[in-house]
Amino acid sequence: MNEHNMSNLSRINTYTCPSNHVLVTRDIDSGVTPMFKKCPTCGADARSGFYNNELQRLTPTHEWYKPAYPERYAHPGLREHCMKGGLAFRAIGEPDETEAMKPLRADGHRVNTFSDSVMSRLTNRNRFQK
Ligand SMILES: [Zn+2]
Repeated sequence: MNEHNMSNLSRINTYTCPSNHVLVTRDIDSGVTPMFKKCPTCGADARSGFYNNELQRLTPTHEWYKPAYPERYAHPGLREHCMKGGLAFRAIGEPDETEAMKPLRADGHRVNTFSDSVMSRLTNRNRFQK
């Protein structure tokens, strides 16, 4: 077994790497979360705290959630994981990233119409100047 499949919501978990960097997460949907996650600080493999009772008093900074459109992930492994009930990961307060993604075509490439690409070229320069 290399995944958790929890039905209790808002459970707190941690991922701790060999250098003792601790990432505190919560589950806001039911689904599968991984046992290992890359440490955001050093990139080493961080290990799940198994939703231990002692962790439940910690304040999470990140959360696991069910994405609205898992079929839109371009990464095949992530897409398959989320379509099978796996949860996606985000900092608390971030939006569901799949909401902003365009659907993939049957061949796995992202739908991108001519007018879309023209529009993004025309608007990119000014996007962050508002
Ligand atoms: Zn680390």
